[in-house]
Amino acid sequence: MSAYVIDGRAAAQALRSEVLAEVKALEETGVRPGLATVLVGEDYAAQAYERRVRRLAADLDVAYFHEVLPCDAELADVLAAVGKLNADPRVHGVLVLRPLPHHIPDEVVFAHLDPLKDVESVHPYNAGLLVEGTPRFVPSTPASCYRLIDTYLEAAGLDKEAFYRRSAICVVGRSANVGRPALLLGIARGAVVISCDEFAYRAGRLAEHTRLGDVVIVAAGVPKLIGQNEVRRGAVVIDVGINPVTDTATGKVGLVGDVDFDAVAEVAAAITPVPGGVGPVTDVWLLRNTVVAAKLQS
Ligand code: NAD
Repeated sequence: MSAYVIDGRAAAQALRSEVLAEVKALEETGVRPGLATVLVGEDYAAQAYERRVRRLAADLDVAYFHEVLPCDAELADVLAAVGKLNADPRVHGVLVLRPLPHHIPDEVVFAHLDPLKDVESVHPYNAGLLVEGTPRFVPSTPASCYRLIDTYLEAAGLDKEAFYRRSAICVVGRSANVGRPALLLGIARGAVVISCDEFAYRAGRLAEHTRLGDVVIVAAGVPKLIGQNEVRRGAVVIDVGINPVTDTATGKVGLVGDVDFDAVAEVAAAITPVPGGVGPVTDVWLLRNTVVAAKLQS
């Protein structure tokens, strides 16, 4: 292996210290930041995420509130829960956990959020600000991707502005929460951006596009989608994927990314592992955005 392994846990720890200092500073002005989550149903990954957020909020002295609704809740009940949190002055940030049950349309719930409390930028107004290049809240997962690229650039002694302006960033996956905002953040940095999704894969042309990337950000949810053939020598590879896989020998469930780590690490300049890459930073970034929201509202 020759790649520099970008340590997401260390980056998350550094971000925690920054957030904690900001929470303390806010508390001195009489404001305690507050975050609320809304869970509808019993999705395993959403519940696990909620537990991590709850623990982090406690660690960082952020007030935490949680609304749980059954999976057969009516849309009106979900909107009422969001409305209650919108009106609560102790709550500065509201996160609606995904996935929502099929009968609850994401976009209706997101549009009901108070835009000043929409810490993941899913409300159309905040999504629009992101498109314009003036985001109020930078969504946590794509923000973490760039935070980790920056960590590598600092370690390598490279000038960030110059690096982005001369680079092509290929993003695999086009979801509203990861792939699309990751592209917009690349544009904001002056990079050339390339966007691929499963159609490029089905057309047998994925590698053709990803090999153009000086940076490849992968958020497809497909284990080992990206191997050596998909990455140019010297690229920076950020693996967002979190895929549960069962070890056939032990029966234990582990997590793997979308990148074949061992193979790609032989050719990449830098790479994030799974677990221990993007995930830990994403969790802390949500709390960071809650502090931003508390400042905006106070
Ligand atoms: P999604 O299912 O909403 O979107 C996946 C995207 O990948 C789609 O645009 C789809 O067209 C594309 N895609 C699917 N198969 C492909 C293929 N074979 N080739 C190219 N593109 C393909 O998923 P998402 O919410 O963006 O999440 C993607 C992955 O990232 C998942 O594994 C998820 O668990 C993980 N994730 C991790 C974090 C984190 O903090 N680390 C946060 C969010 C999501």
